Order: sequence, then C-alpha cells, then structure tokens
Amino acid sequence: MSELSRFRMNPGDPLTILGAGRSGIAAARLARFLGHPVRLVDEGHELSGELRDSLNRLGVAIELDFPITPEWVGSLPFVIVSPGLPPMRWAGEEAPLFRKNVIGELEWAAMQTGLPMIVVGGTNGKSTTSALLAHLLESVGERPFLGGNFGIPLSEMVLESMESGASRYTSCVIEISSFQAETLGFLFPRVNLLLNVTPDHLDRYPSFEAYRAAKWNAFRTQSPETWAILNGDPGSGILPVPDLSCRVAFFRLDPERSSGSGPGLVMSRNGSLATLEGVPGCPQVSWYTGDFALEGHGNRQNLAAALLGAALFILDRGRALSGTESAFEKALASFRGLPHRMERVGEWKGVRFINDSKATNVDSTRLALRGFREGPPSVHLILGGRDKGAPYHPLREEIVRSVKSIVALGEAKDRIQGELGDLVPFQCVQSLEEGVERALNLAVPGDCILLSPACSSYDMFHGYEERGSVFRKIVERVIANRTEM
Ligand code: ADP
Repeated sequence: MSELSRFRMNPGDPLTILGAGRSGIAAARLARFLGHPVRLVDEGHELSGELRDSLNRLGVAIELDFPITPEWVGSLPFVIVSPGLPPMRWAGEEAPLFRKNVIGELEWAAMQTGLPMIVVGGTNGKSTTSALLAHLLESVGERPFLGGNFGIPLSEMVLESMESGASRYTSCVIEISSFQAETLGFLFPRVNLLLNVTPDHLDRYPSFEAYRAAKWNAFRTQSPETWAILNGDPGSGILPVPDLSCRVAFFRLDPERSSGSGPGLVMSRNGSLATLEGVPGCPQVSWYTGDFALEGHGNRQNLAAALLGAALFILDRGRALSGTESAFEKALASFRGLPHRMERVGEWKGVRFINDSKATNVDSTRLALRGFREGPPSVHLILGGRDKGAPYHPLREEIVRSVKSIVALGEAKDRIQGELGDLVPFQCVQSLEEGVERALNLAVPGDCILLSPACSSYDMFHGYEERGSVFRKIVERVIANRTEM
C-alpha cells in the first residue's frame, strides 16, 4: 500500500480530530460534509455554547478535557491533528514523528483539492512572504488562496469550495509552521520556500538539530520537476542543504557572500533591482524593486523570496515571465506589509516609534536591528517577555552597532540583563508603559523607539497582536500627553 493510499478514506470511515481550535473545527465540518463519523477531541479548550450546538447539529461528537496520549492515538484508525498540537503530545518523545494513522489538518485538506500549491516555511518572515507572494500572483491574474498556519485553515477554504460547487481560487499560498513541516508526508507543493532556520521554540524541541530536521521534512515529498527555494545568505541557517529530490533555486542578497550556485534571484547591491538567472528555458528577467516600502533586512529577504517564488510558480504554470515586469513592480510598490512587523506607529518631535511585536525570537530582533546599521546608534530597544530558551548574546554585535539604550521587561528581563546588560544604558521596568516613557526620556530627534522583544508575549499578554496593539495605544497616549504639556 502506498503511503498516500493509507489516507484515501471512504465516506463512513470514522475520523478522530485532535484539537478543537479553528483548524480542528474546520476539519470536523469538512469531514462531516464528506460523510465521515467525526469525533472532535481536545485536552482542554472552552467551546462557546453556540459553536458546540452548531457542531452537534452537524453530528460532530465533541469531547473536551480529554487526555490525549500517544497510546490512545495509536489505537485509532484515522486521526487528523490540528497544527497547534505539538507532535510529542500525540506521537510521544521517542516515537517516530510520522505515524501511520495520523495526518495533519493541512495535508488532509490539501488531499481534497487539486489546486497547485506554494508552501512557505522558515523561522521568520513566513507571513510577510506569503502575503507578498499572494499579492504578486494576484497582480498577474491568479486568484490565490492565502492561508494555512496564518489566517484561514485550508479545511475552511476546501469546504467553502465544495459547498458552493466551485472554487474561487486558482492556486494556494500556504504558510506552514515547523509543527506542520515536521509531519508532512502528503503535501505536494509545486514551489516550496524555506526562508531561514534559526534557533526558536527550543522550549519545545529537544535540540536545534531536531528543529532543523523538522523544517527539512517539508521537502521530502517533492518530485523532480518541482522547486525548492532557499535562502543563499550564509547567516540564514539553511546550510548544509540535504539531498533534495527536486530542483533548487537560491535567492541571494549579497552575491559575493551567498552560497549555492545555479538558478536563482540576485538582488543588486543597492537593493533596487532583482534579476532572475539560470532558470532553464527562461531568459534572464529583471524587476525594479526600489519602490518596495517595508523596512529592515528581513523584509529585503522576504521580497527576494516572494519574487523568486512567484516567478517560478508562473513558469511552472506554463506561462511566460515576459510581461510580468510592470505588474510585479506595481505590486511591490503597493504592498504595505502586515501589522506588528516593523510597523511605524507614531512620531513625536523627530522620534519614531516602531512596533515589531511579532519579533518573538532572537533572530527576528537581530534582523530588525540590522536595518539600523547606517549612521551612529539611534535605537532605544524594548526587549523581554516570556523566555523561549534561546540565548540572547547573538544580539550583542547589532546592539553595539545600532542601539543607544535597552529597556527590559517581563519574565525574561533578568536573563536579558545578564547577557546584554553591560553594553549600553540598561533599565528594567515593570510595564510596557513604563518602558515607553523611560525610552522616550533618553531619546533625541532622529532616534527610534523599537519594540522588538525577542520573546513571546504570554507572560503579560494574550499574544503578540495584543502586545503590539497595547504598544500602539501607549504610544498614542504618551504623544497626546506630551503634546498637551
Ligand atoms: P512568521 O510568520 O514567520 O512569524 P512574520 O512575517 O510574521 O514571520 O515576521 C515575524 C517577525 O520576524 C517580525 O518581527 C519581522 O519583523 C521579522 N522578520 C520578517 N522577515 C524576516 C526574515 N526574513 N528574517 C528574520 N526576521 C524577519
């Protein structure tokens, strides 16, 4: 029996779905539509009465506060697992990552649609790159679905298409997390991007190597004519590249330092031209990128990745790239990015406030700081939150180059002080508001106050979005108060 045929289920085969969040619920609805008896199980999770009623009406059996153990999961015929559930919960610490009876929600949904897919993975930049990719594809007439780990679960889209009898979409841009990457075995993307692999989630993986292996697993289903798109920057943690069964293209921001030969996309030194080179059967094409508005080195990488991804996908669809120049250039110029990622939220007397609350790990903060290298140090950096186990010292070089002072808060503040407290003026504070006030007291015109915490937010907030929104409100209040004074 081929791997794939294991999950060709018949209507009537019972399914157990682990995780009653948005993806699990979407999978349950889709499974009911396909005629499966469905059990939706969660270890905790509150479901509103309304939601519970609507699922019950569909015939979904709901079991909350249910202890999920690897032994129990192993005893079931077919299991669909939600992306938020760490694999060790259902596979066990020692068990093989991939279990014969378990499939991820994303892949199971993907098996129900024939739309061609682009997958975007990596530690940082996935959402921005996915959104930009979809925006580029729209500019040349594609109708991409954008979802996965970010935004709408694929099951929701598939169900909508099935219910309406037609798909609104022509392709899918799917962001995947490392949990999803780790269990992939049935997703067959035409183009698969890996942006970077740097230490993150070390509180949930036994080692960095295990985390890296999870990311590479996403390439194991690729056939020879499909593409892997990789970051050629030696600092991106991509190297060494394992043996891949597909074609490989690199994006290179700094061609002299970049690794990998062969096809790919090269950015000019001043960042205003991107050139596609070496793709068999495709003449060299260049795009002007000087009107791309997003700040920061990470976003330059995302730009290169998305452009290369969109170009190879268009070629894969049997279309030519000639004629895409002006559409892609306009799309790059009109892309505004996503909230909480290097987002400018205010200015007071020449001091800019930047919300990078989504920087929940050390490397995204490092790349945020890299964007401030020019000129003397000008950044007052707000760091801290819940510690995720990775060291902070990789920030030292960028702090010395670009940072004037640090404010630290949250559970991680003492560790941060221990690793970074000797470099520039350093203050520990109790709240974000106090942090903004203290940073502003030290700032002079031309400086910038950057919330790029390098930590998750769960010690003080419900997520990075809430932390970023609170930061924005504080900034507005502080500016209003000082204006009145
Ligand atoms: P993800 O979806 O992978 O979490 P986002 O696009 O939401 O990525 O960005 C997450 C954080 O990482 C933001 O703080 C952003 O400024 C930073 N960032 C964006 N792109 C990159 C990149 N290519 N490399 C490193 N950090 C990045």
